[in-house]
Amino acid sequence: MVNSFSIMDLHNLDKILQHQSYIEGYTLSESDFQTFNNIPKNEVSTNLPNLLRWYTHICSFLSEKVKNSPQDNVSTFNVKPLKKKTENIKFSVTQEKEAVKEVNSVKGELTQWPAFIEERLQIFEKLKQQSDEILSQKTSLPIKVTLPDGSVKEAESWKTTPFDIAQGISKGLAEAAVVAKVNGVVWDLERPFEEDSSLELLKFDNDEAKTVFWHSTAHVLGEAMERVYGGHLCYGPPIEEGFYYDMYCDTQSVSNSDFPVLEDVMKKIVKEGQKFERLEIRKEDLLEMFKYNKFKVRILNEKVKTPTTTVYRCGPLIDLCRGPHVRHTGKIKSIMVTKNSASYWEGKSDAESLQRVYGISFPDPKQLREWKHFQEEAAKRDHRKLGVEQKLYFFNELSPGSCFFSPRGAYIYNALLDFIRSEYRKRGFQEVISPNIYKTKLWQQSGHWDHYSENIFSFDAEKEKFALKPMNCPGHCIMFGNTIRSWRELPLRMADFGVLHRNEYSGALTGLTRVRRFQQDDAHIFCTPELIKTEIKGALEFLSHVYETFGFEYQLRLSTRPEKFMGDIDLWNKAEGQLKESLNEFGKDWSLNPGDGAFYGPKIDITVTDALRRQHQCATVQLDFQLPIRFDLNYVSESGEKKRPVIIHRAILGSVERMIAVLTESYGGKWPFWLSPRQGMVVPVVTPFDDYAKSVRDTLYEAGFEVDVNLDSGETLNKKIRNAQLEQYNFIFVVGEKEKEHGTVNVRTRDNKVHGEHTVSDVISKLKVLKEQRVIKWEESF
Ligand SMILES: [Zn+2]
Ligand SMILES: [Zn+2]
Repeated sequence: MVNSFSIMDLHNLDKILQHQSYIEGYTLSESDFQTFNNIPKNEVSTNLPNLLRWYTHICSFLSEKVKNSPQDNVSTFNVKPLKKKTENIKFSVTQEKEAVKEVNSVKGELTQWPAFIEERLQIFEKLKQQSDEILSQKTSLPIKVTLPDGSVKEAESWKTTPFDIAQGISKGLAEAAVVAKVNGVVWDLERPFEEDSSLELLKFDNDEAKTVFWHSTAHVLGEAMERVYGGHLCYGPPIEEGFYYDMYCDTQSVSNSDFPVLEDVMKKIVKEGQKFERLEIRKEDLLEMFKYNKFKVRILNEKVKTPTTTVYRCGPLIDLCRGPHVRHTGKIKSIMVTKNSASYWEGKSDAESLQRVYGISFPDPKQLREWKHFQEEAAKRDHRKLGVEQKLYFFNELSPGSCFFSPRGAYIYNALLDFIRSEYRKRGFQEVISPNIYKTKLWQQSGHWDHYSENIFSFDAEKEKFALKPMNCPGHCIMFGNTIRSWRELPLRMADFGVLHRNEYSGALTGLTRVRRFQQDDAHIFCTPELIKTEIKGALEFLSHVYETFGFEYQLRLSTRPEKFMGDIDLWNKAEGQLKESLNEFGKDWSLNPGDGAFYGPKIDITVTDALRRQHQCATVQLDFQLPIRFDLNYVSESGEKKRPVIIHRAILGSVERMIAVLTESYGGKWPFWLSPRQGMVVPVVTPFDDYAKSVRDTLYEAGFEVDVNLDSGETLNKKIRNAQLEQYNFIFVVGEKEKEHGTVNVRTRDNKVHGEHTVSDVISKLKVLKEQRVIKWEESF
């Protein structure tokens, strides 16, 4: 084991970590992992408090067993990656070598660019000339361009560009536009119209424009990577936030100390305002152009099925790309390289290993500053970090993706279930308990086996195949079909908190947001087609009540019949009509997502917005016409006929695990009273009042509250109060001579709002209201 850290280094590291959560950047980076692998762990102790905090934090990210004590002399961890959906990053012991290699980090741009850059350019120039000639021969005809407000502009085909039209409207608009949308297709601002067209001009606040903007910046990053490392570029896509570029380079490796060098080159490229030039080229010419790069050749041979495809040039970079892009690199006003990692070609672990560099960019430097601030806030609130700090939950390598909830975390979990349970009583839901293990025949009947079997855990017992349930619905169908059902029983609302398992790829597991074991506040409503409207309205009222209690805003979206649907079109039409009516009667704005329903029924998607304005999809309300058919479910109608019920799948919390992650981050660990696992701390002024303090604690605890007492004589009163506040105890009850005499406590909150002296029984009745009514503004309502 290479041990490149001296004690001095550790002290420096501790200093660096004083004001930040990560070694560099705003998210967990490779250098965090590398450092984690390399530091002498027996030296990480309480006299390096920041390093210790960071260390515990990194441990909490790892699903691997990390020996809890930093004193433990474990030299190497096989660190599993943090993964986003499509990424395949590998961290392993071998990278320790790279950490040492950092000394060899690049000093600047290559003095001599690799020869392929010049050769590529020559081919491009020749072909571009030919293409320009062809374009100049195209006959230009008068065409009409229709804007979103219905106004029509006169233009000429193969000549007028969306940018021309934009400039005709206003210079400001032309400059603010990131990309055009022509006849519904995103289109380079400087690519001429070809026929009568509709035109939209998209600015950065539009999601498609953002994607184009980040995609364009990936080219800038790619150009810089070629100019700094001389490597061969692979894929460089935009991602949810920003972009990355993968590069193959066997002579050098990217190190985070190269980031300033890359950023410098990128800024040069931006300053030059390199134009993005589009060119359509025949495949054989492309194979010649990219013959130096086996990855681009692979893409051409395996992915390009047409005789020609497009490349884009900006500066010396020419890249295979469908576009579109911003007009020129000068539009990118602020850029940052955020992290790097190792990856594999197309995410396949047996393919070539590549180096990935991530970045983010904005059209306005102010936006980058805001983004950085947001990243810091989000990192502070990361549920994996807070979960460990607040001793709520943790993971262990012996059960990846299944969370251990400590008593405090279990309190939150149960408080959520109790909440939903109490609502079930008011809203006519009946709770059932159904099996976890079924013969796989069940999943064949429900249809899940065909599409979903790789996500179902299965095993053999007595020569038969069994599986752990990934969802409750088929079990509920068995329960519905177990007796003859009458129309009088409908709607039948069957609720189940059953434990579910889904076999998620171990690399995709992230904290509580992607797990293998979870529970849902799941329910299935069996009803007649006529009852759909009232049931949906009931479901909307239910979820609205829950989200308001959490303090969340939410949006509703109706997804209707897809092209490939199953079942009776009349039933679809009627059901969609009822969904629309219930949405309208519910009265909140909703949007339509045509064609995005499941093949077995339309649905309503609900997105909640958390305190950091991030959106999460938790609840769903999904109609199902198919499952009742697969399980041959019937009820006897009023006229005595056998009829088919409709199933409504619905959940509000969704996965309870995931909801706890969302709530942890949204509250930033400051739980409202009813959900709080630390509701009160009793603090005696001095030791003679310890007994009274203890009796107050016991009384409050017996009354049903999560109350502790601090009898540590080594801490001053102020320190005890301060610590309780930092640990997010909602209330601090101070007791001394006067309080003991009067049977009272002196009440203050974690945000130091002083409520003064109250009798213990008064406190109990006040806390009861806060808890039972789940008051969100508990602090003001005491
Ligand atoms: Zn591109
Ligand atoms: Zn279901």
